[in-house]
Amino acid sequence: MEQINSDFTFSSIELQYKKALEFGYKIITCSQYVELKANNNLPKLIIVNRVDIDMSMKKADRLRLIFDKLEIKATFFVRLHAKEYNPFSFECYRILKKIRDSGHEIGYHSEIIDQSVIWKEDAENCLKKDIIILNTLLDINILGVASHGGMTGLNNLDFWKNKKASEFGLLYEAYDKEDIFNLFNTSFYISDSEWIRWKCYNKGIICNGDNRSFHDHLVSLHPVIYLLIHPDTYFDNHIYED
Ligand SMILES: [Zn+2]
Repeated sequence: MEQINSDFTFSSIELQYKKALEFGYKIITCSQYVELKANNNLPKLIIVNRVDIDMSMKKADRLRLIFDKLEIKATFFVRLHAKEYNPFSFECYRILKKIRDSGHEIGYHSEIIDQSVIWKEDAENCLKKDIIILNTLLDINILGVASHGGMTGLNNLDFWKNKKASEFGLLYEAYDKEDIFNLFNTSFYISDSEWIRWKCYNKGIICNGDNRSFHDHLVSLHPVIYLLIHPDTYFDNHIYED
């Protein structure tokens, strides 16, 4: 077994996924989870592989390359209103098509509450319009939405307090508690969202002080790991590289 550095280099995250495969984990997308769960066909050890593209499409492509090399799939959630990238730009659109054509799932990384407050528009309409735009852009039918936590201080997840994904023709919202998904509260959740360290939740409850890396948790053989990573967190030499 290769020695794994617990830093946030692309080579480290690649090795961590490799190690997960060696432990016997099946690595799947969010919508595959819905399907396998519905058919009562979940493998014994699974990792639901979620990637929120917060800032860097270029680094999302690096992760896509790693996944394709390891023959694993992920769900990439894409923002439509980021100032950091434009899904319609020549390079982003090229990368998004590559992600789609490599068999990964694409979902919408929503900022619905932010939009409704900043633009003074109805949040539901914003969501409906965004789904149509993302579907049209990539000739897909997205099945899921994950709420982005940005700089506004507003919680985009609040939108879902009294609404269901199915009302918008979707299978899931990434934190929803509907039976069809209900992943966060029933899994071991590991996220790199603190940038310089990992955090984890066991069945929806934070494990205070547990900042062990993704691969450190593998030995525990949690049957369902919900892994959330952000392309922006990873680098070859240092965090400030493009
Ligand atoms: Zn985000």
